[in-house]
This record gives sequence, structure tokens and C-alpha cells, in this order.
Amino acid sequence: MMAPTASDHFDVLIIGAGLSGIDAAWHLARYAPGKRFAILEGRDRIGGTWDLFRYPGIRSDSDMLTMGYSFRPWTQPKTISDGGDIRRYIEDTARESGLLDRIRFGHRVVRADWSSADARWTVETVRREASGREETVVFTAGFLCSCAGYYRYAEGYTPEFRGRERFAGTIVHPQQWPEDLDYAGKRVVVIGSGATAITLVPSMAKSAAHVTMLQRSPTWIVSRPERDPIAGALRAVLPAKPAFRISRWLNTLFQQWGYRASRRRPERMRRFLLDRVRAHLGPDYDVAKHFTPRYDPWDQRICLVPDADLFDAIREGRASVETDTIECFTETGIRLASGRELPADVIVTATGLVMELLGGVRVAVDGRPVDFAKALTYKGVMFSGVPNLVSVFGYINASWTLKADLVCRYLCRLLARMDETGAVQATPRVRAGDAAAAPFVEQFTPGYMQRSIDAWPKQGAGAPWRAHQSYFADLRALRFGPIEDGVLELAKRPPAAARKSDAEPAAA
Ligand SMILES: Cc1cc2nc3c(=O)[nH]c(=O)nc-3n(C[C@H](O)[C@H](O)[C@H](O)COP(=O)(O)OP(=O)(O)OC[C@H]3O[C@@H](n4cnc5c(N)ncnc54)[C@H](O)[C@@H]3O)c2cc1C
Repeated sequence: MMAPTASDHFDVLIIGAGLSGIDAAWHLARYAPGKRFAILEGRDRIGGTWDLFRYPGIRSDSDMLTMGYSFRPWTQPKTISDGGDIRRYIEDTARESGLLDRIRFGHRVVRADWSSADARWTVETVRREASGREETVVFTAGFLCSCAGYYRYAEGYTPEFRGRERFAGTIVHPQQWPEDLDYAGKRVVVIGSGATAITLVPSMAKSAAHVTMLQRSPTWIVSRPERDPIAGALRAVLPAKPAFRISRWLNTLFQQWGYRASRRRPERMRRFLLDRVRAHLGPDYDVAKHFTPRYDPWDQRICLVPDADLFDAIREGRASVETDTIECFTETGIRLASGRELPADVIVTATGLVMELLGGVRVAVDGRPVDFAKALTYKGVMFSGVPNLVSVFGYINASWTLKADLVCRYLCRLLARMDETGAVQATPRVRAGDAAAAPFVEQFTPGYMQRSIDAWPKQGAGAPWRAHQSYFADLRALRFGPIEDGVLELAKRPPAAARKSDAEPAAA
């Protein structure tokens, strides 16, 4: 293990160099210019999700006008964008803002220990060298900002499929897509009906012999133009920045309105969505069976298809949908509960993610491990009883970046307030009567969420213990709400006697 030196101490350490990590770094450089910070990234490349996922067709399923950073216009004509372009956008943002040098690649954070006596985190990382050799490297920091995403990078979720080992073809999970997978002219079955499956199906159907999307139950799907016509028109008459700002606001308003309208009048939204599917697939298609979910719109995310590509592939016979249950895998494909057999050369298990809080980092406060399942979320940003830690978790009903921008700006406001007051420790403290009242995300039922949400922090009954799924409520609370609200305790440096040492970083 390498012991930390003074140069390994930072005012802020960011975990993760994805969309949010670069967002946080940009905000710190801009709004907290005196702070020394670095980004610890477990992988060897920037981009997070948009570098990890390499399956055919990988793209955003929200518009880049709201998924792009508020401070850097998304100027490309396509607003539903390819994964590679999103990765480049993140990398270009980091390069142009002089942030690339701040990233320590190949440093996976495994542990973080807060010491109140020293008012600092000791952060243990595993550094992997090109040779594959690993060593433990320790840093210290006054503040941690977790931008580690929400799912486990090492592996995706795959349920047990009976007879899996008998299948003679190739089985792949979208999270570990083999670069050399050749599926041209082959029969492909994609298991799943979420955003990944509906992206893969039309994309693979361009060269496969046929692609079948095999789902247990349908998902709400809506087609949107790949190029936003209003954004295009605004760009034609206005300079890039104001055009971007206006289209970003319009799309944010539209998303929030759509979500609220769905929650208030689900029947209306159901009818609207189904009418649109019927218009794409024609009157003879069994929309009731294959495209009518059992749940209401926004109980799970509504999946977006650009320019109706999925529906076109189905109409043209290059792809089809089966709604059934898997009995078992066979040597040549999949046997269904209905007795039907689906022949396959390639099976793609688009069966989801494994959710993970804080990138799997084990956290302790003053020697006591934190059980996040028992903690309350503070404004969807911090955790009760855990000092100097903010974490980015985006919206389920709107673009991730809208929330990431607000959290990063809030972090800078908090750091400024701590400096003004001489505080070194900011801790959300529960008061008598504050108790868990709801899961971290409510009324949202996709499988990955149901499998893991019990281990996540809880929401309380009222502010500030709520994690809003509303951009406007968060804008009020995070951007304009007071930092000192009677719940977030700002504490000054403890007396010298209580400190281990001012000169030496805390021991690992
Ligand atoms: C296939 C897919 C499509 C999506 N599409 C959309 C969309 O269209 N719109 C939308 O709003 N959201 C979408 N999302 C959600 C998406 O994850 C966010 O949009 C966004 O990319 C999250 O950025 P992030 O930086 O917070 O997390 P990530 O992109 O997950 O990046 C996290 C980074 O942290 C690093 N990291 C994790 N743990 C550690 C650790 N312990 N130590 C060091 N480094 C660590 C990872 O290596 C990674 O680089 C999608 C997600 C997936 C999986």
C-alpha cells in the first residue's frame, strides 16, 4: 500500500469521469476556483456509460438538448444521439476546460473513511497498471463528490435460464459486447423490452437474417424525431448559445409537463401512446398483446425510438416481437411456455443492470461502517449522518444532466458557505420525528429498481428529506434554497486536542 503524502490531499475528490464527473469538475473550476480537486476514475477512459456500452446502435433515449451540459451547447443536428458522439462531447468538454489532467485513470475507489477529528476523508483506491498489476493507493480529501453512476460496471444482470449451457450459438450481454461479434445473416433473439432491447433490435435488423424481440411483457414506447425541428429552426435564426438555451428550456418544460400529465391522467396518456403505435404498425397488428404494458406510463421510463426505427423494422418484416415466457434454452434456440420454438444463432440477454450505490465504495464515519439502507437522503444529494459527501443521481423522468448540473452547483454553493463560516464539516442531521417514509425512488417499478432499491437510502415524509423527481422543485431547493436550513449542520474545526495531526494525513 502506498501511504498518502501531502500532495495526495485534495479539497475535493470526485469519483468517476463520466457525464457527471466532468460536470462536477467544470463547476468546481468555475465556481470554486481556489479548490484543489481531482477525479478518480476506475477505468482507463473518460465517458462512463457512453464508453462502457458498445452494442450496435447505442444512443441516448432522451434529447441531448437537456442531456447536454447547461454550460456547453449541444450543437449537433441529431438530438437523439449516438453513444460515441456523447462520449466525444464529454471528452471535448473536459479537454476544452483543461480538465483532462485532473483525471487519475485506473484508480478504482474501494473505501472511504471520514474522520471528524481530522475533518477529512481517507480514500483507498486500487490502481491497476497496464501490466495488470494492482496496488493500493490512498488519498485524503476534505470533501467527496460521488459521480459513480447508479449501476455496477463489472457485470450486468442476467437471470437464470434453464438449459443455457446447451445452446450451441453465441450468448452476449449488452454490457459486455464482443467487438468482433458477427451477426450478419444470422438469426438473432434479443431477450428484453427496455431501452437497450428496442435500440438493439432495429440496429441489428439492418444486417441480421431476422431479429426477434422476446419480451415477457411490453414497455411503453413512443417515436420522436431524431432531429428536433424546433431546435433546428432556432439554430437557423439565432446564435448557438441562445438557440440552445431556448430549446433546452422548451424541452425541459415539455418533459415535466408530459410526466405530470401522465401521472394525473394515465388513461389519456395510454390512449395517446397506443394510437401512435397503431398508426405506425397498422390496424392488423396485435398492439394489445405486444405494445400494451400492464403498468401506467412513467411507472417505468417511457422508451423512445428515433424516427420510428423499431416500428419500421417490424413493418418491413426484418424484426418481430414475441410476448411469452422462456421455458428453456435448447441447442438451437429458445423454447417458450406456449410451446413455440424460436430458432437462434445469437441470443442477446438485454435483461438489465445491477444497481449499485456510490460505485460500490464502502463508507465509514469515525470508524463505523455506514448502512445506507438506514440513512435518509437529504435533498437527493447528501445522506443523513454522513459528512462532506454529495452524490449525483439523475432523474428517472427527465435527462440525468438536469439534476447533475443542479447538484454540482449546489456543491459549489455549499463549499463557499463553509468557507464563509469557517466550517469544515457539513452533515445532514435527522431530528426527532424524521423517519423513513418512502424508497429512494417512488412509483417506479422496472426490474433493476425492484431488485436493489431496499439497499438504497430512504426518503422521509417531507423536505429536505425528499429526492424530487421534479426539475423545478430541485431548482428551488438546490439552486436558490438556503444552505443553512436547520438540518444541515455546519461544524467548525474541532479543537486541536481532538485532532490526530494537522501535518499528517489520516492513517488508512
Ligand atoms: C445504456 C444506457 C442508456 C442511457 N441513456 C440515457 C439517456 O438517454 N438519458 C439519460 O438521461 N440517462 C441515460 N442513462 C443513464 C446514464 O447513466 C446517465 O445519462 C449518465 O451517463 C450518467 O452519468 P454519470 O457520470 O453519473 O455515471 P456513469 O456514466 O455511470 O459514469 C460513472 C463513472 O464512474 C466510474 N466509477 C464507478 N465506480 C467507481 C469507483 N468505485 N471508483 C472509481 N470510478 C468509479 C465509472 O467507471 C464511470 O466512468 C442511460 C444509461 C444506460 C446504462
